[in-house]
Amino acid sequence: MTARFARLASPTGEIMWVRLDSDRGSRLEAPPWLAETTGTPLDGAFDELGHWTLPGSVRLAPVQPSKILCVGRNYLDHAKELGNEVPPEPMLFFKPPSSIIGPSSTITLPPRSISERVDHEAELAVVIGKRLSRASRDECEAAIFGLTIACDVTARDLQKKDGQWWRAKGMDTFCPVGPVLVAGLSSSDLTIECRVNGQLRQRGSTADMIFSIGRVLEHISAVMTLEPGDLVLTGTPPGVGPLTSGDRIAIEISGIGLLEETVA
Ligand code: ZN
Repeated sequence: MTARFARLASPTGEIMWVRLDSDRGSRLEAPPWLAETTGTPLDGAFDELGHWTLPGSVRLAPVQPSKILCVGRNYLDHAKELGNEVPPEPMLFFKPPSSIIGPSSTITLPPRSISERVDHEAELAVVIGKRLSRASRDECEAAIFGLTIACDVTARDLQKKDGQWWRAKGMDTFCPVGPVLVAGLSSSDLTIECRVNGQLRQRGSTADMIFSIGRVLEHISAVMTLEPGDLVLTGTPPGVGPLTSGDRIAIEISGIGLLEETVA
C-alpha cells in the first residue's frame, strides 16, 4: 500500500501538508513522517494532469529537510560519460535547503559571467522518517519514509573549476523537488526518465545504482546524524546535458509521477 503526500501554500499563504487519496485530499497537522493521522478533508480537486489542487493554492516541494545529501557517480554509465572512475565508497556532497524549488516552478540560470554550462541530473530522492545515527544498513532501510523526484542541477564548469561544489550544486533554484512524496513504494527497480523540450535525454533504472540506498545511508549515518525529513539524492543515470533559457524539463519516475520545470 502506498500513500501520497503533497505540500502547498493556500491563497492566504498558509503552508500545509496534504495526504492524497484516490478521491480527495486531507490536511495533515504535521509533516507526514511525524504525524500518523487521517487528516481533515479539504475542498480541492484533481486537475486534468492528475495533480490534486486547492483553488488558488501553489504546490510546494514535498520536503522540509534540515540538510540535503547527494551521491555522485552512483551509476556506472554516468561516471563513464563524464570520464570519471567509479568511487570505491559512496561519494557524497551537500546541496543547501535554500536551493529547493517546488514543481511547476523555474530553474534560474546564473549570468554567463558566472557559469556557461548548467546541466540537469534527474534523480530519485529519499526522505528520512526516523533519526539515524551510526545505524546498520537494515536500520537505515527501515528508516526511509518515502520517495520523491529531484533534479540535481549542476553548473558543470564551476564543478570542475572550484574544487568545492558549494556553488556548482548549491545555487538558488538548483534543487527542484516533487511533485509528491510517496511512502510504501519499493525503490529497487524504478524507471527514471528526463525529457527536455519533449526529447528524451536520460533514461535509467534504480536497479543500476552502484551503491544501494541502504549502503549510502549507512555510510552517512556512520559520521553524521540524519534527522526525520532529511533529503538524500541517490545519483543520476546517464544522459546528463545542458539546460538553456526557455527549456522545459520533465522528469518522470515510475510510481511517483512527473516533475516539470521551466528554465530561465
Ligand atoms: Zn547528481
